[in-house]
Amino acid sequence: MRITALAGGVGGARFLRGLLHHVRTSQPEPVELTVIGNTGDDITLFGLRVCPDIDTLLYTLGGGIHEGQGWGRADETHSLAGELAALGAEPQWFTLGDKDFATHVYRSQLLGRGMPLSAVTERLSARWGLGELGVTLLPMTDTPVETHVVVAGDGDGEQRAIHFQEWWVRHRAELPAERFVVAGLDRATPAPGVLEAIREADVVILPPSNPVVSIGIILGVPGVRDALRGTRAPVVGVSPLVGGRPVRGHADVCLRTIGVDETSAGVAGLYADFLDGWLVDEEDPMPDGRGLQVVRRPLLMSSVEAAADMAGAALDLGLRLRAERAPA
Ligand code: GDP
Ligand code: CA
Repeated sequence: MRITALAGGVGGARFLRGLLHHVRTSQPEPVELTVIGNTGDDITLFGLRVCPDIDTLLYTLGGGIHEGQGWGRADETHSLAGELAALGAEPQWFTLGDKDFATHVYRSQLLGRGMPLSAVTERLSARWGLGELGVTLLPMTDTPVETHVVVAGDGDGEQRAIHFQEWWVRHRAELPAERFVVAGLDRATPAPGVLEAIREADVVILPPSNPVVSIGIILGVPGVRDALRGTRAPVVGVSPLVGGRPVRGHADVCLRTIGVDETSAGVAGLYADFLDGWLVDEEDPMPDGRGLQVVRRPLLMSSVEAAADMAGAALDLGLRLRAERAPA
């Protein structure tokens, strides 16, 4: 069975780890999982290319993640960052541990030799044993893309655009945002295998990743949205909102910025042209109808098992929709 998922960082990675757990324990059929990762968060720091969402997916699925943080490496040290700070090197608002630095050094070395990001990601996936797990991790595109946030200037009323990471990490999304601008997205082409993975999947899953700055960016890669509309696979999504609020991060601020209701119905509306099934939290007031199958489940990923239950419910919904569609 072929499953394809679109994913950002922490929310996507935890959900997909749960999906693998579910598949291992309760799915008799072998599963090939293709993950299409957001690269809009990518940033160049100290001359190194950092891909926060891809790295969170690698470390989480590969078993090297810092559990408490949800990003970065377990058992990490920070000698390099300490020395850079002593030198006065900027920026100092983005935490990079020593082991994590090695990923960025290696990635930058390969990119510098002209290797596309997808091939670099394949190398990194081998380091983390993703192949043995039946997982193929693809960046959404090999074209460098960067999400920027247009914010009001410091008192002078002049607008300026800052990198998404600076807005999110340094300013904790508290700097009023005018809009998101994704540099390079209109000229981006899907990475090799991305469109095929959507078209040839048995089920497509949207984890509870940020609908604006994770999933929304992937959907903006020319061709991806059309592939989702055209695929014969059912597309099932999981709401990132529990109790009417994002579980972590600032998805509510992102939704407000693009003028969309901070509700599961609002998020589903962003996917309305291709979404077939939608998991919402038990207490969610999301109304049924409009051809969308809504299923209510506890949606808090408090443990790998809880995430596995959620992912199992999403997969079951997808398989049920697929069986209903199949010609008799
Ligand atoms: P990021 O790139 O690291 O911000 O991660 P993602 O975009 O993949 O996921 C962020 C989203 O995951 C946030 O909007 C959260 O609301 C959502 N999220 C995180 N943990 C949970 C959880 O336990 N349950 C649900 N339903 N959503 C979650
Ligand atoms: Ca992210």
